[in-house]
Amino acid sequence: MSRFMSARHAVLVPYTPGEQPKERKYLKLNTNESPFPPSAKATEMAAAAAAGLQLYSDPECRNLVAVAAKYFGIDRNRIIFSNGSDEVLNYAFMAFCDEGTPALFADITYGFYPVFATLNGVPYEEIPLKDDFSIDPEPYIGKKGTVFIANPNAQTGIELPVEEIERIVSSKQDSIVVIDEAYVDFGARSAVPLTEKYDNLLVVQTFSKSRSLAGARLGLAIGNKELIKDLETIRYSTNPYNVNSMSAAAGIGALLDDGYMKRNSGKIVEAREYTKRSLEGLGFRVTDSTANFVLAEHPHADGKLLYSRLKEEGVLVRHFDTERIRNWNRITIGSMEMMQSFIATLEKVMKEIVA
Ligand code: PMP
Repeated sequence: MSRFMSARHAVLVPYTPGEQPKERKYLKLNTNESPFPPSAKATEMAAAAAAGLQLYSDPECRNLVAVAAKYFGIDRNRIIFSNGSDEVLNYAFMAFCDEGTPALFADITYGFYPVFATLNGVPYEEIPLKDDFSIDPEPYIGKKGTVFIANPNAQTGIELPVEEIERIVSSKQDSIVVIDEAYVDFGARSAVPLTEKYDNLLVVQTFSKSRSLAGARLGLAIGNKELIKDLETIRYSTNPYNVNSMSAAAGIGALLDDGYMKRNSGKIVEAREYTKRSLEGLGFRVTDSTANFVLAEHPHADGKLLYSRLKEEGVLVRHFDTERIRNWNRITIGSMEMMQSFIATLEKVMKEIVA
């Protein structure tokens, strides 16, 4: 750190993205990306938009907003787009948290939440998941603050039923509840319909997972129009051109080709269920995930050692050196072929480790 770094930001511990190694070709099951390429409609539209790159992108994202509003069946002023959903999550910390309004989120969840809180000088409280790693809604209802829930939850993939979300939202009408639905398209139920009914609910989604556009950086939030206006204030105070023209066009193509996303998500669900069964067959405990990843541990194998041995064998999974899940590994679900290959390598590694 230079001696010029502001005291306010000197305390930051930045988010650690998953490895993106270039030195060797891995079976990459560590960053929850899609194994499938983007829809051809998305790439064709992005390529066409490239011809107009001498102009700034449309700060209002009018074409994309129009298509998305129709897709979700909502008014245009109830949706905002961002440079990946990370950006709009950061906006939500800026807009809806402060010294007297702490952020509340689970002790095991998306690692960016504490980073955004610290970046924005916002106090936060980590609320423990239950022993089975599911979310306990009660503490969120009982405490003052803005709630951030990833649903399905990050790292575990476990879903909080939408009825429980409604219970939190309706019991805390003077607080904002942010539901981060990055992984909702792999079998979970969305809280978007509830945004019609509650003015304190914000739902965040991304094009990075089920729509195979992680590199395009496209996210969105849906909520009451006043909430969206607040987020627009933050956006216009930081970077109004946050969504580039090519990504906006890719987003339109992806939404128009929804069947492609649904077919791919179906394949992921099938591969996930195969992976769960196979891991359990090898003696692993596996979370009941409705996302495109599972979290797994073996009673007789050290989680970190397993991660390292798999890496040596050319398979990359995600290991978190954090309490409670130190012995677990998060495995992204790829295509069926990728998962069969993963299980074959795992069988070999487990024979050595457990022997
Ligand atoms: N929320 C959760 C729970 C995530 O796991 C991720 C992906 N790392 C994001 C949000 C951010 O995704 P993106 O910025 O690519 O939209």
